[in-house]
Amino acid sequence: MCSEHANSGSTGMESFSNGAYNNFIGGEWVEGCNYIENINPSNTNDVIGVYSQASRDQVHDACKSAEAEFSVWSRQTAQYRANILDEIGQRILEKKEELGTLLAREEGKPIREAIGEAERAGHIFKFFAGEAIRLGGEVMSSLRTGISVGADRVPIGPVGIITPWNFPIAIPAWKIAPSLAYGCTVVFKPANLVPACAHALTEIFSKCGLNNGEFNLVMGNGSTVGETITSAREISGVSFTGSTDVGKSVSSSCVAHGARFQLEMGGKNPIVVLDDANIERAAEAAIIGAFFQTGQRCTASSRMIVTDGIHDKFIGVVKSKLDDLRIDSALLHDTDIGPAVDSRQYQQDLSYIEVGLSEAKLAWGGKCLERATPDFYIEPALFVETSNEMKINQEEVFGPIASVIRVSNYEEALHVANDTPYGLASSIFTENAKIMNDFRRRSEVGMVMCNLPTAGLDYHAPFGGVKASSYGAREQGTYAREFYTTVKTWYSYD
Ligand code: NAD
Repeated sequence: MCSEHANSGSTGMESFSNGAYNNFIGGEWVEGCNYIENINPSNTNDVIGVYSQASRDQVHDACKSAEAEFSVWSRQTAQYRANILDEIGQRILEKKEELGTLLAREEGKPIREAIGEAERAGHIFKFFAGEAIRLGGEVMSSLRTGISVGADRVPIGPVGIITPWNFPIAIPAWKIAPSLAYGCTVVFKPANLVPACAHALTEIFSKCGLNNGEFNLVMGNGSTVGETITSAREISGVSFTGSTDVGKSVSSSCVAHGARFQLEMGGKNPIVVLDDANIERAAEAAIIGAFFQTGQRCTASSRMIVTDGIHDKFIGVVKSKLDDLRIDSALLHDTDIGPAVDSRQYQQDLSYIEVGLSEAKLAWGGKCLERATPDFYIEPALFVETSNEMKINQEEVFGPIASVIRVSNYEEALHVANDTPYGLASSIFTENAKIMNDFRRRSEVGMVMCNLPTAGLDYHAPFGGVKASSYGAREQGTYAREFYTTVKTWYSYD
C-alpha cells in the first residue's frame, strides 16, 4: 500500500454508492497513491466519490500479474471462458438501471441513453461468450504426402486497454469482452473522469470469478498510468480509444517494444442533405448526430452539408426542432441533452463558440444556461454561412456545436464531406438510390449511413474508421478477433 494514502477505503465496495474506488490488481483491491474527487456535471455540488490512482509500481504489478495469469487463462477451455463472460453479461443486464444511473451521474449522459449503453455492454459480453466457443482455425490442403498443414488462432498475450470518458461502459466492454473471450489477459485504464463506472464493472467481473489477475484495473493519469502500460514489456498489445494526439503517442510507445496496437480516435463527420431528402428525417438525424450526448461522440456529425434547393427550409426545420429539446439534468428521464462532462470541456465549447462567432453567423443557441445548481449546461450552437475551411469545420470540437455548409450539388457535397483529415462516419439523406450507392462507395470513412444519423450503431457490426480516425484492426463483432489473436501456422508429419 502507498504511504501517501489519504483515505481508508482499501477494499472493494459492495454497492455503487458513495465511497472510495480502488484499483484491482492480481485479484486484490489495492489502494493507490493520489486521490481525486469525481463530480456530477449536472450538479457539481454532488460528489460521486473519491478514487485512488495507481502508482507506477502498482501498474507494473498489474502488468506482471496479467503476464503470469496469461498461461493459465489462455489454456482454460473455451467453455470455461464463455461461462464467465455469459455470467458477466447477465449481471450487467440485471443491473442496467443501476449502472445507467451511475453513468448518467458521472458523465452527464441522459439517463435513457445511459441505461441503453449499459444494456449494450451486457449484450456485448453475451455475444463474446459465444465467440469464445466459435473461434476456429483452418486446416489447409496439403501439398506434400503425409504432411498436414493448418493455421490456428492464438491469443496475443496480455493486453493494455485504454479508454476515453464518453462511453465509459460500452467502450471498455467492447474491448475487454473479446480480449477475455479469445484468451488474452487485461490491464484496463479508464479515463480519469469516469472511475466509478470502471469500478462498478470491475466489481461485476470479480464477482463472476475473475480474481486471479486475468483482469486488472489501474486508474490514474495518461502520462503516468497510461504510459506505464503502453511501455511495459509484459504487454503484447494495446487497444486505445481517445484523441488523435494521444493515439500518436500510444503508437510510438508500443512500437518501441514491439507491441501491437489498435487506435480509435477523433472524427469530424459530415451529414449530407440533398434537395430530394425527406426533410423531417434529415433534420432529426442532423440534430441527433450533432447535439445529442452534448456532441461528445466521436461519431458526432458536426458538419451539415446541404444543397441549395433545400438549404433555407432545412435550417428552418432544424431550428424549430431545436426549440423543442429539453436541456437539463442527465438524471431526468425526459432530458434530451445533458451538460458538458467537466469544466475543461465546457470552457473549450465556449471558446469554439467564440471562434464560430468570429467566422460565421449563429443561427440558434450558443448560450450558457443559468440554473440554480452549479453545472456545465450549454445550449447547442448552430452556425450557418460557413465554409469547410473554417476552424469550426476542420477541428474536432467534441461539444454541441455544428455548422451548415451550403453546396450546389451532390459532387460538391461529396468533395466537402471528404475534405477533412478524419474518416470515421458519414451520412447522406436522399431518395436517389444511385447517389446513395455512389456515396457508400466514395465517402472516405469506415462507417457510412444512408438516411440515418451517424449515431446509433449495432454492437455486432465492425466499428472503426480511416485516415486520422483509426489505425489497425476493426473493433466489435467477429472482426475483433483480428486484434486479439494472431495466426500460428502448423505442419505435422502424420
Ligand atoms: P484522451 O485522448 O484525452 O484520453 C483517452 C485515454 O487515454 C484516457 O484514458 C487518458 O487518460 C489516456 N491517456 C492520455 N494520455 C496518455 C498517454 N500519453 N499514454 C497513454 N494513455 C494516455 O481522450 P478523451 O478526452 O478521454 O476522449 C475524447 C476523445 O476520444 C475524442 O477525440 C473522441 O473523438 C475520441 N473517441 C474516439 C472514439 C472512436 O471510437 N473513434 C470513441 C470515443 C471517443
